[in-house]
Amino acid sequence: MKFIIATNNPDKLVELKRILNPLGIEAVTAKQEGISLDDVEETGSTFMENSFIKADAACKKTGLPAIADDSGICVDALGGAPGIFSARFAGEEATDEDKNNLILEKLKDADNRSAHYTAAVTCVFPNGDKLQVEGKCFGEIAREPDGDGGFGYDPIFLYDGKSFGNFTAEEKDKVSHRGNALRMLQKELKKYLEENNVNQ
Ligand code: IMP
Repeated sequence: MKFIIATNNPDKLVELKRILNPLGIEAVTAKQEGISLDDVEETGSTFMENSFIKADAACKKTGLPAIADDSGICVDALGGAPGIFSARFAGEEATDEDKNNLILEKLKDADNRSAHYTAAVTCVFPNGDKLQVEGKCFGEIAREPDGDGGFGYDPIFLYDGKSFGNFTAEEKDKVSHRGNALRMLQKELKKYLEENNVNQ
């Protein structure tokens, strides 16, 4: 069964396909199906609500089951910010470097540097059924950026003391919020398809 990956974010797309396809989930983009996804407004107040908004819009537009991720980084010393605003925290035009520098600046005198990533993932089916899972990855904010692997906040996120910017793709997928969420989704999906007698 084909699933539309509902994202226009190229970095996320790479990770979502890389993790989903080996799990036996045939992940395709709307573009591969000849359909272009509209940018939807993320009006929810939680990662989960926003992941539903994106998956639901893509499912309605394509008529196929759709999977969307809404994710971000939550910094304890900033009261959980930027959280759901991670993409636009430093303004619409800000680069990843700008966003990382803003977090480092805000934490320059902070001893508590603990932070976590969250990825909420929703899968919506054309009949309106939905599956929802959430994965987290706990770590700390570094004192300075390190490494150029991954994307977004990865160069300033330390997992077990090592920057995600220095993780290989496989190493990141094993422990990341997105990897954790999608492995949960695989289990949920298997159960759902069996219970509903859907042949993959
Ligand atoms: P959204 O889910 O499209 O609203 O945006 C999520 C934002 O959170 C991304 O643009 C990144 O800035 C950040 N983010 C989410 N997941 C990751 C990750 O795995 N590494 C680094 N940054 C991430």
